[in-house]
Amino acid sequence: MIKRATGFNATFDRKEKGTKATHYCPGCGHGIIHKLIAEAMADLSIQDRTVFVSPVGCAAFCYYYFDCGNVAGPHGRASAVATGISRALPGKVVISYQGDGDLGAIGFNNAFQAANRGEHFACFFVNNSLYAMTGGQMAPTTMLGQKTTTTPFGRDPANEGYPLKVCEVLNQLQAPVFIERVSVADTKRIMQAKKAVRKALEIQRDGKGYAFVEFLSPCPTNWRLDPVASAQFVTDQMEKVFPLGNFRDRSEDVPLVPIEIPRLSPSQLFGQGQEGAAAKVDRPFKERQFKFSGFGGQGVLSLGSVIAEAAGSSGRFVSWLPSYGPEQRGGYASCSVVISGNTVGSPTVDEPDVLVVLSQQASEKFARTVKEGGIMLYESSLPAPAVNEGVKVIAVPAGKIAADNGTPKALNTAFLGAMTALGLHGLPEEKVLAALDASFATKPQLIERNRKVYRAAYDWGKGL
Ligand code: SF4
Repeated sequence: MIKRATGFNATFDRKEKGTKATHYCPGCGHGIIHKLIAEAMADLSIQDRTVFVSPVGCAAFCYYYFDCGNVAGPHGRASAVATGISRALPGKVVISYQGDGDLGAIGFNNAFQAANRGEHFACFFVNNSLYAMTGGQMAPTTMLGQKTTTTPFGRDPANEGYPLKVCEVLNQLQAPVFIERVSVADTKRIMQAKKAVRKALEIQRDGKGYAFVEFLSPCPTNWRLDPVASAQFVTDQMEKVFPLGNFRDRSEDVPLVPIEIPRLSPSQLFGQGQEGAAAKVDRPFKERQFKFSGFGGQGVLSLGSVIAEAAGSSGRFVSWLPSYGPEQRGGYASCSVVISGNTVGSPTVDEPDVLVVLSQQASEKFARTVKEGGIMLYESSLPAPAVNEGVKVIAVPAGKIAADNGTPKALNTAFLGAMTALGLHGLPEEKVLAALDASFATKPQLIERNRKVYRAAYDWGKGL
């Protein structure tokens, strides 16, 4: 029966609510490989303890799809991230998923050293012989004579060296338990790939050590071939350079390791004593999620940071996650803040309880994301936003309050004062003021000026 593997999410809501299609090009091998992994996770009943580390590359958005723990690694560092997770959480099944630019080039030493140490994770390596996401440049796995955007006359060994055969290199090491190269070019080969994926994950389930599976995978887009011709290219060209087969399987020789899943509290993990922040937490505090947004230079990141600092010093669990464009000033900027009485599961905020917007662009982008029963504050000189039903909207004359009180740029501080007056962050005012003052530690001349703006906005809020 053809059906969705239950290791996948039912819909890919992280991509866009209700989406059922992946972002991969038609004929791409990533989708097939994902399905093999998702099926194996579900069939081996390891989904609840699997942590998937996504790479940088075409598969950077793996976490849209897999219904398990997900972490996004920096470029080339998925094996290093997988090492950290598997060491900190030995009961987990950890997967590092990497392409040939990611693993074969920038991350090769990370991957190689992890294999040499015999770290406990499965590394799934997708070899499509070039850098796909960035437009088809030569990768370490590019074959001799193969044309890419950076080797338009074909890879020349005198100039670019020889294709890197990762399985063969890793097979020189002592520690790996399992190494195999497979292909997803046709059904017969996919069935063999399926067995290799299962074996690699069984090794993780049983705590036996490092497993590596290389997939020869088509990239029709950058090869400029149709899907059928791409699959043929894998079989006719790639397999000559990268022969398929099992290089080693020592899983029967390694004893099954009984896994004790640690149940460490954050204070045990991070070394906080009874006097640490965890001991002081006000547990009944209901979690609140905030989004502050505008453009660079308006102080939206600082506004979120002041509230996060105040929450931390009030003994709450808190996260602060910035997001901004490459421009120093004037570009898009936002931050997500989560304040909770318990550990924060995720620092991302997709549907805030409280949204604060300081620019028109931010208003258009986020107004519809506020959850039902939530509140949106916006700078009153902007057009009134369109929000979902059940969302309260308050226009705050932050710019006017800041200007009238002598510091026109302190819009963010005006919003802070209004939020305190309206009880939106639920934090003690002395903590908020202490955090505000601390944010101007290097410009103490601004402390009193900002306090003045804060107080004026607070009074405005109380007068509503
Ligand atoms: S560019 Fe290539 S590897 Fe990337 S999604 Fe498209 S076909 Fe797949």
